[in-house]
Amino acid sequence: MKRRIAVVGVGSAGLLNVMHLCVWLDKSWEIYSIHDPKKKILGIGESTNGGFVNLLEQATNFSIAHAPDMAALDATVKYGSRFVNWREHQWINPLLNGNIAVHFNNRNLKQFAFERLAKLWPDQFRTLEGDVERIVDAGDKASLIIDGRQHDFDYVVDCRGTPETLDDCVVSDCTLLDRCLVHRVEGYDFEPFTDHIATEHGWMFGVPLRGWKTYGYLYSQKLTDKATALQDMQASLGVSKLDAAHYDTEYVLTSYYAKQLVSGRICKNGNRALFFEPLIANSIFLYLRANRLIFDYIVNGVSAEQVNGNFVRAVQEMEDLISYYYQGGSMHASAFWKAATQSAQQRLTQRRGFLEYLGRLRTMKAEGVLHRAPGYGWAAHTWQVVDAQLGYNYIEGEPHA
Ligand SMILES: Cc1cc2nc3c(=O)[nH]c(=O)nc-3n(C[C@H](O)[C@H](O)[C@H](O)COP(=O)(O)OP(=O)(O)OC[C@H]3O[C@@H](n4cnc5c(N)ncnc54)[C@H](O)[C@@H]3O)c2cc1C
Repeated sequence: MKRRIAVVGVGSAGLLNVMHLCVWLDKSWEIYSIHDPKKKILGIGESTNGGFVNLLEQATNFSIAHAPDMAALDATVKYGSRFVNWREHQWINPLLNGNIAVHFNNRNLKQFAFERLAKLWPDQFRTLEGDVERIVDAGDKASLIIDGRQHDFDYVVDCRGTPETLDDCVVSDCTLLDRCLVHRVEGYDFEPFTDHIATEHGWMFGVPLRGWKTYGYLYSQKLTDKATALQDMQASLGVSKLDAAHYDTEYVLTSYYAKQLVSGRICKNGNRALFFEPLIANSIFLYLRANRLIFDYIVNGVSAEQVNGNFVRAVQEMEDLISYYYQGGSMHASAFWKAATQSAQQRLTQRRGFLEYLGRLRTMKAEGVLHRAPGYGWAAHTWQVVDAQLGYNYIEGEPHA
């Protein structure tokens, strides 16, 4: 009798979790991808880091060098994030991991993945459709009630998207941003970066896809009213109205993370487990981290306590990374940036572990062994590059922050 694991949801997180399990579980397992076709995916979240490409290569034979693969995902290459108006100069921020990534249309990922997984993992990959009404932890198994019928699995990974309530989550204080206006531009001059443009009221991302570019204007509805944000976005893009025919006109954002990634026979991933504002495309990066933690829990006997501890550490490192950007403000001396800078600086005074880590990097740099340092969110080398660009000099030179 084969062991069975179910992943509920075919948004980016559910698909990436299914891919990870197909690649790393042996043939004594069947991996079920389950979703309700009536429930749409979030459909935004198109910028990635290196780990995304690695997993797609392993699970689906995807290749950046293979034009039909890139076309299937409306994908373009990404070498980093271009930071504009955060300092007088602009810079290309390294990826969170790897040296090359992609921008992709996450609405095409399911079809692409399903075709390849069925062909490449025929003994393991399974699909099921229906409304998952309940997920029940039965101790030695997990049961799904799908359209009124019970289906039993050894484990379930819940990737059903943003939770109905945040009762089992910690609401994060690493960002003030809670709204995002979206606009799509057809035809543009391609450059292999995700734009991160500081604005008076927050920052705007620009994600170049095949044939169009998606802009997202992030702001805080407590500090800026929608009309002002809209006007500033339209002015900075030189448009008279937003083309949001392909996206929701506005996304409401709350940054949070689950207190537990795993409990008994049930695990979580994707927006069900965490969400932070999309600075440096951190979501999918953290989903891939969670993939490994869930695998270690299911296969390598790592305890729930240890897995949940590692998860919380990984997400808190990302919170510190986000605060690290905001603490130095931007070229805009606006109410938003004043508040964002103060809140980040305040928050970081409580993050002793993070400040001690930066101190260790400074010492190891002075001793000529920076690259031996462990990572924190990302690698020590990336800290060195970004620290110099932001002019904080935590690692070298006269500290400013
Ligand atoms: C403005 C914005 C920009 C972003 N930019 C980025 C970015 O550049 N990079 C990045 O990595 N992330 C980004 N994100 C994060 C983004 O949320 C994630 O990348 C991703 O879309 C999360 O998807 P998900 O798979 O968790 O959930 P969803 O896409 O919400 O999918 C949920 C799935 O669960 C299924 N489902 C739900 N309920 C049931 C049920 N009862 N029964 C059966 N199936 C069910 C649905 O059918 C669906 O398939 C961004 C987010 C926002 C808001």
